[in-house]
Amino acid sequence: MSLIEARALSRVYDLDSGRVTALDRVSLDIEAGDLVAVMGPSGSGKSTFMNLIGCLDRPTGGHYRLDGVAVETLGSDGLAELRNRKLGFVFQQFNLLPRVDACANVELPMVYAGADRKTRRQRALAALGRVGLAERAHHRPMQLSGGQQQRVAIARALVNEPRLLLADEPTGALDSRTALEILALFQDLNREGVTVVLVTHDAEVARHARRVIRFRDGRLLSDQRQEAADART
Ligand code: ADP
Ligand code: ADP
Repeated sequence: MSLIEARALSRVYDLDSGRVTALDRVSLDIEAGDLVAVMGPSGSGKSTFMNLIGCLDRPTGGHYRLDGVAVETLGSDGLAELRNRKLGFVFQQFNLLPRVDACANVELPMVYAGADRKTRRQRALAALGRVGLAERAHHRPMQLSGGQQQRVAIARALVNEPRLLLADEPTGALDSRTALEILALFQDLNREGVTVVLVTHDAEVARHARRVIRFRDGRLLSDQRQEAADART
């Protein structure tokens, strides 16, 4: 059983101006432990695909299993629960709360999960340690560099111990040196067993993945395995 099983997955939008097929019968598996880059031009369906596998949206056709769970059998509470338990999300613009410190930002997913205050604090500090930011726990986002802010966001994504990390252009707002540091972190987490799927426009970034999937016009255009370049060398 693969961690992700997509079968003829489609997403059609019905607009006043007509129908848009954002994703067109995409079938693929992603195995636990993989590090996958998703590429393709703007409008090719990358975000739609990520939203579907992230259980943020529902397909209009086809089937999707996440870690053996048939997602179409779940109601919206079940979907939210699955998301909280199995997935972590990372974004281009970090999406941190500006008025609270790094630790409080990382605690947020556990607030939703209902953990008590002491547990939240301990686990947030451990997650910040895991991304190399133990010393910055009480800084606010503004007091951190872009790369450090993205590390906080990654710690937040990791704090509920997800099986799968979904990252939409995670290095898009960073200079190339900082981007490499973030990729090295993803590679470390991947070696520790976290499955990573990241969207990128940047071929330099995609070199660091084990597998590269390309979309065009909502279809799967290519799917290649490669020797991942080490981001630390
Ligand atoms: P990408 O992430 O590769 O840029 P998207 O998945 O965002 O591509 O978009 C794929 C296609 O679906 C585009 O034609 C886009 O305009 C359309 N689309 C995406 N989201 C919506 C939406 N919420 N409503 C209508 N059309 C959408
Ligand atoms: P990306 O950076 O992946 O190219 P987009 O700009 O295509 O992102 O889309 C950003 C968000 O807007 C996505 O969540 C997508 O679902 C939504 N979206 C994209 N195209 C449309 C559209 N034509 N109508 C409504 N929403 C859209």
